[in-house]
Amino acid sequence: MTSTPASPAALAADIEAALEHPGVGLGSVRIGPGVRAGVADPIPAGARVALLRDTVPYADVDGGDVKAEVAALLRERAQVSEVVLEGDVHADEETVAAAVEGCADADWVVTVGSGTLSDIGKVAAGERPHVIVQSAASVNGFADDQSVLLKSGVKRTVLSAWPRALYVDSEVLAGAPAKLNRSGLGDMVSMFTAPADWYLSSLVGLDGGWNADAAVMTRRYGDDLLGLAGGVGSSDPVALERLAEFLTLSGLSMGVAGQTSPSSGMEHTVSHMLDMAHGARGERTALHGSQVGVATVLVAIAWRRVLERIDAGAEINVPGEEDAERAVRGAFERLDPSGKMGQECWDAYSKKLARLRSPGAVDALRAALTADWTEHRGRLEGLLERPERIAGALAEAGAPLRFSALDRPAGEDDVRWALLNCHLMRDRFTVADLSFLIGAWTAEDVEATLAEAEALGVGA
Ligand SMILES: [Zn+2]
Repeated sequence: MTSTPASPAALAADIEAALEHPGVGLGSVRIGPGVRAGVADPIPAGARVALLRDTVPYADVDGGDVKAEVAALLRERAQVSEVVLEGDVHADEETVAAAVEGCADADWVVTVGSGTLSDIGKVAAGERPHVIVQSAASVNGFADDQSVLLKSGVKRTVLSAWPRALYVDSEVLAGAPAKLNRSGLGDMVSMFTAPADWYLSSLVGLDGGWNADAAVMTRRYGDDLLGLAGGVGSSDPVALERLAEFLTLSGLSMGVAGQTSPSSGMEHTVSHMLDMAHGARGERTALHGSQVGVATVLVAIAWRRVLERIDAGAEINVPGEEDAERAVRGAFERLDPSGKMGQECWDAYSKKLARLRSPGAVDALRAALTADWTEHRGRLEGLLERPERIAGALAEAGAPLRFSALDRPAGEDDVRWALLNCHLMRDRFTVADLSFLIGAWTAEDVEATLAEAEALGVGA
């Protein structure tokens, strides 16, 4: 894809335009130095405000206490009660219930914090207006209406609610731990693989919702994102402000699309698989974006391999129901011998399989990979990026390049398992499904992909 140079004005204009889309419920976004000073602006005088926070200290780039400042600004206008979530906050049932109860009497909810805290805040606020002061440029999930919650230890993305207003203060971002902002870059590089997966799924009729505008909303600025890497690594406020704009636009693109496909493809399913492996053992999970960043390089390699394979001529074989069920259940038995996890994944996978086995589906895919291949290949290549460039940007930012280097390292066996079986966990169609259908996603293919990544200093 020819990348359009992003001026700050172009990104800001794109964000403003996306806010007008009927699928987007976010009222306003303010991004820039010092914008937190306006946090009380949308709130009517005298309103009852629940201020949701954790106990992690947030200092801005000059050492100012961000939470105390926000509380003081709110108190000038409203009746504020603080809802404090203690310790290392996870979005589990107990914590979410405590937040819901703490915010019960408020007219407005204001969350100051991370992606996890904001996800909890979206649930706690429900239908009521919610203001988020973002603490780091760590994920794209501040500007959307979804929350990642833990249900019986399994990570689930659930529909929650759009915030009314989002404040992204670059002085606050620059004061955040560098690893959080580097993680944001990792979440953002999924733009180099996820839209291609989404396009691919439309070729098999699995995703009627392909929307070219939503797919390239951030992707068309790919070169600019890669160009931010050094500044993200050194916590440069201007680079972080730009990264936050990308993350915001990415969140909004999911609202425009009405689904997470613009920024969630195989790289996210690999990350979900690793989270499930940790979760099954009662372990903490890694920083989301950092994990997604490493996975994205591997998926970009997988994409390159499959394009070459199709060029050489590929046969499509859709598995029978019995074989598929055995494969799905077998893949998850390792984590959950009770079979519950396998059942849940089979429920999702069997929908995808039914679609693939429906009349005409394979013929359509076969035509796409033969007669119409030149056209589709061109479009896919326009959405993809070379794995070398993605890896280079992560390295320049000082972001992890290996799953073993994450804050919650994954073992080599888990990495191989996650790559090989990620297509079995959900109903979304990705490059892993395509590779599998053409017989190009065996344990040997996973090894070959890892070996190519190794040459880039990336991998398990
Ligand atoms: Zn993500």
